[in-house]
Amino acid sequence: MFLSVFDIFKVGVGPSSSHTMGPMVAGGRFLDMLRASPFHPRHLRVRLYGSLAFTGKGHATDRATILGLAGFLPESYEAEKAEAVLAANRESLTLTPPGLGPLHFDPDHDLIFDYGHPLPGHANGMVIEARDAEGDVILRETFYSIGGGFVLTEAEHAAIDDKTLAAPSPVPYPFRKADEMLAMAQASGLTIAQMKRRNERRFRSEPEIEAGLARIWQVMNDCLTRGLETDGVLPGGLKVKRRAKAIHAALEAERGLNMVAPHTINDWISCYAMAVNEENAAGGQVVTAPTNGAAGVVPAVIRYWLDHVPGASGSQVGDFLLTAAAVGGIIKTNASISGAECGCQAEVGSAAAMAAAGLAAVLGGTPEQIENAAEIALEHHLGMTCDPVKGLVQVPCIERNGLGAIKAISAASLALRGDGTHFVPLDAAIETMRQTGRDMHEHYKETSLGGLAVNVPNC
Ligand code: SF4
Repeated sequence: MFLSVFDIFKVGVGPSSSHTMGPMVAGGRFLDMLRASPFHPRHLRVRLYGSLAFTGKGHATDRATILGLAGFLPESYEAEKAEAVLAANRESLTLTPPGLGPLHFDPDHDLIFDYGHPLPGHANGMVIEARDAEGDVILRETFYSIGGGFVLTEAEHAAIDDKTLAAPSPVPYPFRKADEMLAMAQASGLTIAQMKRRNERRFRSEPEIEAGLARIWQVMNDCLTRGLETDGVLPGGLKVKRRAKAIHAALEAERGLNMVAPHTINDWISCYAMAVNEENAAGGQVVTAPTNGAAGVVPAVIRYWLDHVPGASGSQVGDFLLTAAAVGGIIKTNASISGAECGCQAEVGSAAAMAAAGLAAVLGGTPEQIENAAEIALEHHLGMTCDPVKGLVQVPCIERNGLGAIKAISAASLALRGDGTHFVPLDAAIETMRQTGRDMHEHYKETSLGGLAVNVPNC
C-alpha cells in the first residue's frame, strides 16, 4: 500500500493520533456507513478495548469518540464548536450528526471502557453499533486505530497484508524496504526526496504537492510558535507546567553572550520540541509526525536547521518532509508507528529516524548517508517503552520529544561524517523494533499499567 507524505503528516488535533484522532475518524466512518444504510438509527453505543480503554480518559478518547459521532473530523476541528456540542450532549443525551437526525447517546451508559481482553486485531480496538427504535442492532462495526490517525475496519485489517502484497503498485518507485529504496536511488540517480515526489505525482499535481507541503510546515511551525508563546498548566490533573516559553525566553536573553556553553544548543532543540508537545497535550492543532505523541521531533529538527544552521533555506523544507515521509512509510509498512503496538520506540523512535533522514537530506547527504542517519536514530531508541503517567501524553512524552530531536540531529551528523557504509542496515533496525515490540509486556504499551505510570508518586 502506498503511503503518501500526506498520510504520514496529517493535520489533526491533540493529544493523541491513535487515541484522539483515530476514534474521531472511526466515528465519522461509522456515520457514513449509517447514511448508506436503509435502516433508521435511533441509538448509538461504543465499546473501547485494550489501550483505548486503559488510557482513553487521559488521551481524550471519550471526547473524541463523541465528537466523531457528532460529525467532527480532526482536519477541520474547531475547539469552540466542539465544547458546545459536548455540553449539548450532556444536557440532551443526544447527538445530531448531519443527515442522520437526533440519535440517543448517553456517555455514561453508551461509552463503555472495556478493561478485559483487547480485540484480536490490534491493541486499539473499538466497536460502534447503532440500534433502531425497537432496540434492534441495525449496524455494528469494529474499528482499529493503528497509529498516526490511521483507522481500519475489521475486514480492512484482515485483508491488508494480502492486498498489500498482491496489488500492483501505482507508483514509479514502489520501495517497501530501505534496501529497495537505496537500490532504486542508485539505479535512477535520483535522491530519496525526488523519488518520493515522483511517487506523489501519481495522485497530485506539482502545485498541489507544493501547496500541501507548505501547509504541513505552516501548521507545524504555527503550533511550535504558539507553544513558545504560551505558559500555564496543562489539563488532565497532573498539574504539569508548560516550560517551553520560559526556556525560550532565557535562551533569547543569553543570545550574544560570550559565556554561553556549546551544549546550550540542546536547550534550543528541546524547547522547540516541547513547545509542540505542550500544544498537543493541551488539545491544540498539530501535525502527526508520524503520531501526535511524537509530533515535536520533526518540527524541532526543522526549526533547529532553519534557525541555527548556516545556509539553511525554507525552500528545502519540502525535501526534508518528503525524505522523512519515505522513512516513516517504510517503518509503518514493516513494523509500526503505534505506541500501543510496539511501545515508544515506534513513536519517538520512528520520529527521530524520520527527522534524522530529513536533516541528512537537506545537509546534502547521499541516499546511503540518509539511510544511515535514520538507522542510527532508530537503533538507539530500540526497547523504549510507552508508560505515560496517568494516561496523559505529558510525562514522559513532552521531554522525550526534545531528547528524540537531539538524537536525530546527532544521528544525521554522525552519518554525514561517514560515507554511508555501516554495520546495521535500517531494515534490520526496523525488524528489531517490530520483534522487540511484539515481545514487550502489555504493561509498557500505552496501557499505563507499568513503568513511570506506576512508579511516580501521587498520581
Ligand atoms: S510514551 Fe511515547 S508512545 Fe507513549 S504516549 Fe508518550 S510519546 Fe506516545
